[in-house]
Amino acid sequence: MAVGYGACKPAVAGIACPVSAVVRTMKSIREECGIAAIAANEGIARYLYYCLHALQHRGQEACGVVCFDGKKLHSHKNFGLVSDNFTPAVLNTLRGHVGAGHVRYSTQGGRDVTNIQPFAFSVPPFGLLTLAHNGNITNARVLRRTLEATGAIFRSSSDTEVCMHLLARAQGETLVARLREAMQQVKGAYALVLTAGDKIYGLRDPFGFRPLVIGKKQNLWVLASESCALDLIDAEFVREVRPAEIVQLDMQTGITSFVGTAKPSSFCAFELIYFARPDSLFADQEVYAVRKAIGERLASEDQDTQADVVIAVPDSGVPMAFGYGERAGLPVAAGFMRNHYVGRTFIHPDQQIRDFAVRLKLNPLPRSLKNQRVIVVDDSLVRGTTAKKILRVLRNRGVQAIHLRIGSPPITHSCFYGVDTPDRSQLIAAQQDTAQICRTLGADSLRYLSLPALHQALGDAGHCTACFTGNYREDIFQKIAKQPRDG
Ligand code: SF4
Repeated sequence: MAVGYGACKPAVAGIACPVSAVVRTMKSIREECGIAAIAANEGIARYLYYCLHALQHRGQEACGVVCFDGKKLHSHKNFGLVSDNFTPAVLNTLRGHVGAGHVRYSTQGGRDVTNIQPFAFSVPPFGLLTLAHNGNITNARVLRRTLEATGAIFRSSSDTEVCMHLLARAQGETLVARLREAMQQVKGAYALVLTAGDKIYGLRDPFGFRPLVIGKKQNLWVLASESCALDLIDAEFVREVRPAEIVQLDMQTGITSFVGTAKPSSFCAFELIYFARPDSLFADQEVYAVRKAIGERLASEDQDTQADVVIAVPDSGVPMAFGYGERAGLPVAAGFMRNHYVGRTFIHPDQQIRDFAVRLKLNPLPRSLKNQRVIVVDDSLVRGTTAKKILRVLRNRGVQAIHLRIGSPPITHSCFYGVDTPDRSQLIAAQQDTAQICRTLGADSLRYLSLPALHQALGDAGHCTACFTGNYREDIFQKIAKQPRDG
């Protein structure tokens, strides 16, 4: 990531400090956005706040909430974290019985205040609507050019605005019919939430790349990217929105489902490997359990390695290390102490300190690892730059042997479905073989989880693994290949 540490300034007026951004997302593969919507009898702002707080790991660049009280929209959007932006005074201004929220990591559209969601717009006769989006619309440029040629005026560079214009121009008699017509023109990986009148709507693309779940508590319906958001507001997990499905939720009629034509299930494997919180549920599986199963299979495929202890690269490597240690009969140690507070503090970086960004956040235990043969478990290897620094810090602490074990297959291809991965030229596994990577990173050995073992650990629901295999969904990829991406 091209960040000038020396030029870093304190976070001011909701603008995030660049060092904070680095240490929150040390991998060069990044979280996607998080979305939520709530319909209730009253007082939804605090519930939306808690949902977005639980989804903060999916995006830290910006956040927004838009509520509707039956007459007016009430909105607050800004750069920075949810907890920094939504003070009690701000929440008191967000009145309404339906509302949507968004946490953003910018992949498409770039860093601009006009791109902060949810977006609000008017569609006669349905009135004022709000829309929030997670994912990547792969034919957004083509659609945008077509819309602009026929008079559409865009206010942002976000993909999401394309959906707004398509919806405004659709012809169906009901909002669901218009949504269906609009989204039939859209290709890519997406989950959307929408509010209209006293109803909220949620939909996923036909492949189901990106997640969206339904929750319920007395006098409240909620849609959210992950079930951990439901837990925080004490809502019951009802189910996931199905691929190609549109759900309509309101206090009078509950859930109404409009089933579309789904394509082969392609839920993003990286949600389970890295993005999602371990306490979230997908396809009736806890993410923590999937990661632990990955660690177990990693150990089963690695029975000839001599080691004294297993440690994890926090956070998503932790359950994998537990699984590895349990299966291999090895002790699992903490390995690193993580400083959880660096992201909230201005720290003047010292260019003289080697591997500063890593050590700012992760410090190896100074005595426990000395002279030990260590299995280091990480969830994935992208560019390898962070892994190299982590291994160097370990080596400098006197670790005798470092065996790096990766809980996913080599990442050899970029993602075109909304996850911000580097170009292939920067993916270490696309450029070097395992022996070369070992030398580059300073590991004594390196092994990855095999693809069959990954599929076994993920379970039966169909998953996208295109960044490991290059097997993209053809009808999407062909469209992308002909057009450059925004970011
Ligand atoms: Fe997820 Fe990789 Fe598929 Fe992208 S290519 S959706 S990151 S599994």
